[in-house]
Amino acid sequence: MDFSFPRCHCLLEFLYSLLILLKMRPGDFPPRSIAERDWPMAPNHLNSDQLSCLEYTKAHFKEIARQNRFAENSAIEHDASRCVICHADLIPRNPFLTYLDVITPSVKVRRPRLDQALVEEINGDLAMLGEDFRVTLELLKDGDERSTECWRDWVHTALATGLGLLSIHSPTSLDFDLDEEREAGMEAVIEDKVREIMNDQLMAREA
Ligand SMILES: [Zn+2]
Repeated sequence: MDFSFPRCHCLLEFLYSLLILLKMRPGDFPPRSIAERDWPMAPNHLNSDQLSCLEYTKAHFKEIARQNRFAENSAIEHDASRCVICHADLIPRNPFLTYLDVITPSVKVRRPRLDQALVEEINGDLAMLGEDFRVTLELLKDGDERSTECWRDWVHTALATGLGLLSIHSPTSLDFDLDEEREAGMEAVIEDKVREIMNDQLMAREA
């Protein structure tokens, strides 16, 4: 094999680039498309302090959801120094992923299963939109396409509302718009959470 200088130089350059890539963590990648691709694995890359802050915050908001006090979440006492909504920079990754991670279990706490209460919420949204169509528990359980679409829309609205309520959590909390984030390349991540919520509601899994 000819290991003359130019080729050897290319090889070294290649190995060096590989080394840099391997040393990077998902949180180090600024492009959203890459952050999105790494998303399912992302929590595994957090260190124990970061994970503990994330879990603390999820538990805090789940409890607020359980008490149905989300609208007044800014007034509820907590350890702001460990709150990843007050301080998104506690977790070195795209903060939208962190916010989505926190709001998802709270939605599940509010509506843990596919039952008549959820049917009424979905139909309430349809009525508000001026739609004549209504879902039933049977249609949803049978996987009726239009009804499932309405269910999916309800989950989207719940996530968007939750993000809105997180934005007024504290002076340092961030404001995310679900539609804007979707357009900015977060669609797969959002759909992943929507599917997770719907599956758990179908299986009546606890958040
Ligand atoms: Zn906070």
